[in-house]
Amino acid sequence: MTRMRIALVAVAAASALALAGCAGGGGGGGAEEPTAEPAPTFEPGTTMAELAEAGSITVGTKFDQPLFGLVGPSGVPEGFDVEIAKIIASELGIEEDGIEWVETVSANREPFIQNGQVDIVVATYTINDKRKEVVDFAGPYYMAGQSILVLADNEDIESEDDLTGQPVCSVTGSTPAAKLAEIGAEPVLTDTYTNCLEPLRSGQVVAVSTDNVILAGLAAQNEGEFKVVGEPFTEEPYGIGLAKDDTEFRDWINDVLEEAYEDGRYEEAWNSTAGTVLPFVEPPAPDRY
Ligand code: GLU
Repeated sequence: MTRMRIALVAVAAASALALAGCAGGGGGGGAEEPTAEPAPTFEPGTTMAELAEAGSITVGTKFDQPLFGLVGPSGVPEGFDVEIAKIIASELGIEEDGIEWVETVSANREPFIQNGQVDIVVATYTINDKRKEVVDFAGPYYMAGQSILVLADNEDIESEDDLTGQPVCSVTGSTPAAKLAEIGAEPVLTDTYTNCLEPLRSGQVVAVSTDNVILAGLAAQNEGEFKVVGEPFTEEPYGIGLAKDDTEFRDWINDVLEEAYEDGRYEEAWNSTAGTVLPFVEPPAPDRY
């Protein structure tokens, strides 16, 4: 035998052993093990690879917004934003118990992303240019609009025009707070929208103003007490906040969103949460900026 042939035989023998090992090492039955869902693989060094490897992801969301992110008796948040985050986690091969939920309020979303306290924020988070200076966004995955909540028996306020010169509650660091100042209302600001309800009840403010879908959730949670009036007067495209310049991660989340639109997971996520109160609308195409 030449040296070359010896080497080839050795390789063949090793392969045969390896194959036998795969088949179960001569157990005799020959039946194959049921194949589990293959673990997703990602380019080493990407955020996706790091998160998948860790088997965990930290998600910033709202804890007191019915329909989108609300911590109830279960102790974990529930809502449409929560379901969107779960879809992203599952595409990373991360189980639900590998998701660490962190409460983000409107004002701390950018800092929490910037200093790495969260990997992503899914929290009724409007994509805009100012925020894009310090963070990036995948999405949009939903289009909301600013609206008005008043006491159920209020007959005076019908649109944003009726808010001029009036005290109106909203939240620090939110887009609606800025818009209220712009239209000449007197913004009364707190940290979360539920903290606007007492001032509304007591008459300290005449209205609460933020996204229509948040207000719809608050109205549904407090049946008969409040009503949403007028038409939405801004556009609030909801995005998934992530670290600035992590383009691979942003593109990948956009791919996940598109897949979820197509295979029904997005609609299912909506129907089981916000869809219990609000109609389903076709999602906007992610912005590949
Ligand atoms: N979508 C608006 C924003 O991101 C209002 C809702 C909120 O504060 O979470 O500022």
